[in-house]
Amino acid sequence: MPNTVQGAPSLFKFLETVLPPKIPRNGEIQGQEHIQSREDFIIDVMDGIKLAPMSTRLTPHILSRIDWAGNPLADPLRRQFLPMKSSLLPDHPSLSLDSLHETEDSPVPGLVHRYPHKALFLATSVCPIYCRFCTRSYSVGGETDSVKKARFLPTRKRWEKVFEHIERTPALNDIVISGGDAYYLEPEHVWEIGKRLLSIPHIRRIRYASKGLAVCPSRVLDSTDSWTSALIKVVEFGRNEGKTVAWHTHFNHPNEITWVTRLAAWKLFQNGVTVRNQAALLRGVNDDVSTMKKLIYSLADINIQPYYVYQGDMVRGVEDLRTPLQTIIELEEQIRGTIAGFLMPQFAVDLPAGGGKRLACSYESYDRRTGVSTFVAPSVKGGNRVFEYHDPLWSLEK
Ligand code: SF4
Repeated sequence: MPNTVQGAPSLFKFLETVLPPKIPRNGEIQGQEHIQSREDFIIDVMDGIKLAPMSTRLTPHILSRIDWAGNPLADPLRRQFLPMKSSLLPDHPSLSLDSLHETEDSPVPGLVHRYPHKALFLATSVCPIYCRFCTRSYSVGGETDSVKKARFLPTRKRWEKVFEHIERTPALNDIVISGGDAYYLEPEHVWEIGKRLLSIPHIRRIRYASKGLAVCPSRVLDSTDSWTSALIKVVEFGRNEGKTVAWHTHFNHPNEITWVTRLAAWKLFQNGVTVRNQAALLRGVNDDVSTMKKLIYSLADINIQPYYVYQGDMVRGVEDLRTPLQTIIELEEQIRGTIAGFLMPQFAVDLPAGGGKRLACSYESYDRRTGVSTFVAPSVKGGNRVFEYHDPLWSLEK
């Protein structure tokens, strides 16, 4: 964790060290023909960072899995975490930074209460890594040249207001502790938050949302670091109370899984920690059948439940990573039936404007010419509402 590469100056230094003088080309990449040398590549990344809604932070684990020498332009991990100006595409006019309208559904700052029985506790704004496509670009990470962030500081004073709302809302039985990322909570806070929530009689289950297992798995194995033992303690406390505690993590590509990941997942399995994965569907990363299958099968083999594959959210600044709805529908069609049903993830759209999660194939209408799909979902405020998803501009007819 202390060795993450963070901010433009340290990234510059890192890239100078790992990139070859001449950038290899594995097939022509539209708009990137001019990137021939290490200097061209670095300039393009630095220009991309200036336009990006997310700040830069990469862990040694992820940096070590990017093929800097052989394929830095098209590497699927590089595409997720490092923007390049030459690959950015114009935003669809319907995009926003808070596409799920979380702020509107927050009765107290840092608690998104959209579904009757479930709430999302944003315990911090910090993550071990910053993903370009983050659904919470409005709040997560440091401020960038283009975005001022709504911060959720990890303070007990702020959390107390969240706990009070949960305590006086008996309909709530399920809390997701996220952020940011629960990996950035102090171990004692992992324990305190878990115990406090599980001690509320109407809370039946909690889940910690953390990409940590995917981007810094060695931490799970480090006997000098007590984050994982704090989590295991919460799992045991929950089990004694008859309540479930899970870790929801976020792998997007099989290259993120290494022997270290396998050992970390094994340790969690041995200690009875349920781990589920929520992947994001990303263009040029995992939007083909063989990569998505390999991701699902690899996770299943290390006892991580492939729980969701999400259609890319309609957030600003990452149109090069979004796919049309058609892609997720076809992926599901081709993968369903090749794996046991209980290992088949739900291919879903988290509907813009707070419609919640809907199976991608459950659309009411889908006009492939305009790229507009509609979904009907129950509104928490009562009745059904129609929500729209818009395909990226690049996928539409002129
Ligand atoms: S780890 Fe999660 S919250 Fe953090 S930047 Fe990535 S997607 Fe966003």
